[in-house]
Amino acid sequence: MKPYLKTVPDRNGMYGDYGGAMLPPPLVPHFAEICAAYDVLSKSAEYINDLRYIRKHFQGRPTPISHLKNLSEISGGAQIYAKREDLNHTGAHKLNHCMAEGLLAKHMGKTKLIAETGAGQHGVALATAAAYFGMECEIHMGEVDMAKEAPNVTRMKLLGATVVPVGEGAKTLKEAVDSAFGSYIAQADHALFGIGSVVGPHPFPMMVRDFQKIVGIESREQFIEMTGELPDIVAACVGGGSNAIGLFSGFFDDEAVELYGVEPLGTSSKLGDHAATLTYGVDGAIHGFATKVLLDDAGEPAPVNTLASGLDYPGVGPEHAYLQKIGKVNYTTADDRESLDAFYALSRLEGIIPALETAHAVAFAMREAKNHPGKSILLNLSGRGDKDIDFVTETYGFGE
Ligand SMILES: *Cc1c(COP(=O)(O)O)cnc(C)c1O
Repeated sequence: MKPYLKTVPDRNGMYGDYGGAMLPPPLVPHFAEICAAYDVLSKSAEYINDLRYIRKHFQGRPTPISHLKNLSEISGGAQIYAKREDLNHTGAHKLNHCMAEGLLAKHMGKTKLIAETGAGQHGVALATAAAYFGMECEIHMGEVDMAKEAPNVTRMKLLGATVVPVGEGAKTLKEAVDSAFGSYIAQADHALFGIGSVVGPHPFPMMVRDFQKIVGIESREQFIEMTGELPDIVAACVGGGSNAIGLFSGFFDDEAVELYGVEPLGTSSKLGDHAATLTYGVDGAIHGFATKVLLDDAGEPAPVNTLASGLDYPGVGPEHAYLQKIGKVNYTTADDRESLDAFYALSRLEGIIPALETAHAVAFAMREAKNHPGKSILLNLSGRGDKDIDFVTETYGFGE
């Protein structure tokens, strides 16, 4: 049988009914250029060696797997393990694709990276890549997010990036994407758009999956070395879906391994209260690709809500919509309350402060462990929570 990763996407970037590239006409030639360049580079020994070097000597890969013994004990049942992407340079998995996007831009002769950012995590990772490759960097960010995530704005500026404030509409992620795309259209001859997840028009969902696959490849080998077996359950939080696809990519062909994506349920399952696109969304399109989306009565992208800004998106990577449809991955949710409890528990019991995004995967593991005595759960610890400590303690205290 063909390995799963060889089965999708097709030549047009389709994952079954999802994906593709619906582009404004001026961008069509530029995306064709990206596709052609990546087609050559992804098979080039030089590009692959450069990326290996960066991962080892700059990012600090491979990241370890930790056995969360205390958390397992208090949860009762399965043993819980974590792939430590929080130990990746800049504190999250996002640098895995940002460095590869920077390297791609360099090989294409581009001199500038442009992107949007929500909480600022993607902006910081891309600004880091731009600094490393000696490129200009322009990050679009909603004014509401800039006020909320001031330390990340400072980081981006220290790294040499220009931060463009976006004052339209709700002044958050969706408006920042629109603004960044507009700016990119005007500069696409010398700039590359650095998309922050497995979203956007083809070839980005495929490229970002390729760049995050390292997480799964390392994990499978490390887990077997540690325990002599494969994990029974593999889980990750899903915003756009890049950390989840990365980890799952190591296990797609292991029939015995159950894969779980965990979406943010926010405060309730009512539209507007959550950002659980796969769980409650419908087939549609957003930002140039077909996927599942959360829509309001007028058919526009609905407002979304979760404590974790990095999961706050009314769409999702097209491959996740496909994986859900073919039943290869199970998608479930964790709400704000459970995720906060998990945030406190992991901090206190294991000495690891997770990102609020990551806390959704931790919450799932703690809940699910009870149902699987004697089994093992491997979760993706996608990022560290330094960025969240002020918000959490000022709003909710110290968890006792
Ligand atoms: C951005 C972010 C996420 C969500 O993005 P995905 O593409 O769904 O992985 C999850 N965890 C952390 C730590 C993040 O910074």
